[in-house]
Amino acid sequence: MPSKKEIVGVIRKVGRATKPFQLPITTKIGQSHDPFRVLISTALSPQTRDTVTGPAFTRLMGLASSPRALLALPEKKIQKAIYPVSFYRIKAKNVRRICKILLEKHKGKVPSSMPELLALPGVGRKIAGLVMIYGFGKTESIPVDTHCHRIPQRLGWLHSRSPVETEKKLMELVPRKYWKEFNNTFVKFGQNICLPLGPKCGGCPVSKQCKYYREVYLNKNRAKSELSLKKK
Ligand code: SF4
Repeated sequence: MPSKKEIVGVIRKVGRATKPFQLPITTKIGQSHDPFRVLISTALSPQTRDTVTGPAFTRLMGLASSPRALLALPEKKIQKAIYPVSFYRIKAKNVRRICKILLEKHKGKVPSSMPELLALPGVGRKIAGLVMIYGFGKTESIPVDTHCHRIPQRLGWLHSRSPVETEKKLMELVPRKYWKEFNNTFVKFGQNICLPLGPKCGGCPVSKQCKYYREVYLNKNRAKSELSLKKK
């Protein structure tokens, strides 16, 4: 298990290496510091690539950009605007249900606490955490998406069966002031270098600190070169 100091070192290295890459869609939209925009964009994003979520979100906001205006749109119209995000029918329904609750219970505003956010339809810990961080500037959790779940396990920081378990363990391992940076840089890292399939370990800035590199990547390469030597 690496120390907190080593973990911070890895986060910093990953941060430097991923600087040239595009910001994740949530970070980009989060620059507006508008909780409603962050909430709706993150509600569209699960199981969908940023390159699909971004344009879908822009199309939707082009039609309606407030809870009242969005609720006034027929569900079919929302579906059409956000297609082809995955589960677009369910997400369109959730967008309208969220807007209805915001209007009925929160005076048309996005609530600024984790429990209230978690009570909204389709909002889990990742979305709630992202809204808190990028919408309200409050870091109360580590939002864990597929990349933040996979990469710490490859690095050998933890073993986990679910994003919720990963989040809990990460909150113990990563110093709080790095929680936001961890999410932002590891999403970029997972999108560009530590890919789900075929991670680019050869050029990875933290390969020396990585369990997968030592135990899988190097062994595979060794086996490959032994095989090619035998063939000669
Ligand atoms: S060495 Fe490979 S698996 Fe490990 S962090 Fe880097 S890209 Fe990911």
